[in-house]
Amino acid sequence: MARLEYIKLSLQIAGCPNTCRHCKDGGRPPFGALMGLADTRWVLEQFRSVADMLLPCVYFEPTAHPEMVALWELSREFSNDPEMDWSVFSTNGYGIANADDPEAVLQRLHATGVRRLVLTLHGERQHHDWFVRRSGAFDDIWQTARLCAPCGLSTHSNFYVDRRNVADFEPFLDRVAALGGATDGQAETYLGLPDFLPSPRLRTYEQTLRPRPADLEPIRHHVCERWGGDLEDYTEGSWVSRLLDPADSLALPEQPRDQAKGAAFIVDAAFDIYEMPWPYAWSMMRHGRVRHGNLRADGLDAIIERHLAWERPHYPTATELAQRYGDRNSDLMHRNPMSLRAKWIDRWLAEHGSAGTAHASASP
Ligand code: SF4
Repeated sequence: MARLEYIKLSLQIAGCPNTCRHCKDGGRPPFGALMGLADTRWVLEQFRSVADMLLPCVYFEPTAHPEMVALWELSREFSNDPEMDWSVFSTNGYGIANADDPEAVLQRLHATGVRRLVLTLHGERQHHDWFVRRSGAFDDIWQTARLCAPCGLSTHSNFYVDRRNVADFEPFLDRVAALGGATDGQAETYLGLPDFLPSPRLRTYEQTLRPRPADLEPIRHHVCERWGGDLEDYTEGSWVSRLLDPADSLALPEQPRDQAKGAAFIVDAAFDIYEMPWPYAWSMMRHGRVRHGNLRADGLDAIIERHLAWERPHYPTATELAQRYGDRNSDLMHRNPMSLRAKWIDRWLAEHGSAGTAHASASP
């Protein structure tokens, strides 16, 4: 059997109780024990046997799985990614806040080596629950945040700003500051914007929620201090001008992945194996993925052969895309130009059809 240098393995076995309006992964119910521990171990053993480096990750919301701590330990047991930081655990808090004994869950995570929880608040209760489309979601994440310090954990809290939650940013800073930190006395905060990815959710977000400089005026000093430069530097028009200016050094990496070297697979609860037509660094998303087969029915040999033989689609360069689709007049803000490249590729895909279905059926 062919051997790869690395395999990134997304185990879509936990689902998510939320349906966030910016979710790049398409998180949504159902959730729970979509795959048990024994089957997960078998899947990991399979892929570990053909890869020098395995990078497993449980999707979508790990705490939605009733055996989340054991799954976390299992992933760590099979991972030999030198860059993975197992002291950091990202969660929306659901399975912790709703456990019989939330503190015991956090203490078990702490015992595995977790020291910091990454949590995303989209605003105060009303906006957060609206944004993630679940009543009670804010209470779950905030209860989890407040229990961290007593359980020896620090927090890193994200705030993704949109057109409707700007007024909630300073209350967010006050809230998080009150949490303190278990290890260093500080609770970290991050102010960001969701990247665009070709998906119905992100298309709607782009049209209705992605902020413009005028929307962020009330928190201009926070944004400029954290991101550098001015608000206007982050508009689509500004990025297009820079990409098309020969005197500007802005350059984006182009499709870097070597197919014979590694792969980024998705495993779902039915043991179906999918791969994306996108370089992994652009993140995992459902659009355009191809199904290489079923691990139980077809075996890993066939999956790897299909991966190697797959004719991955080739996209125009970032400059070509900017020339064709870039809108110099757009004041929609993007934190980085990779987000805009994905937006323009979405346009390109709409003109050229969905990408690559060389060996198997396209996903729904
Ligand atoms: S909590 Fe995370 S995985 Fe779930 S829908 Fe939101 S962004 Fe997606």
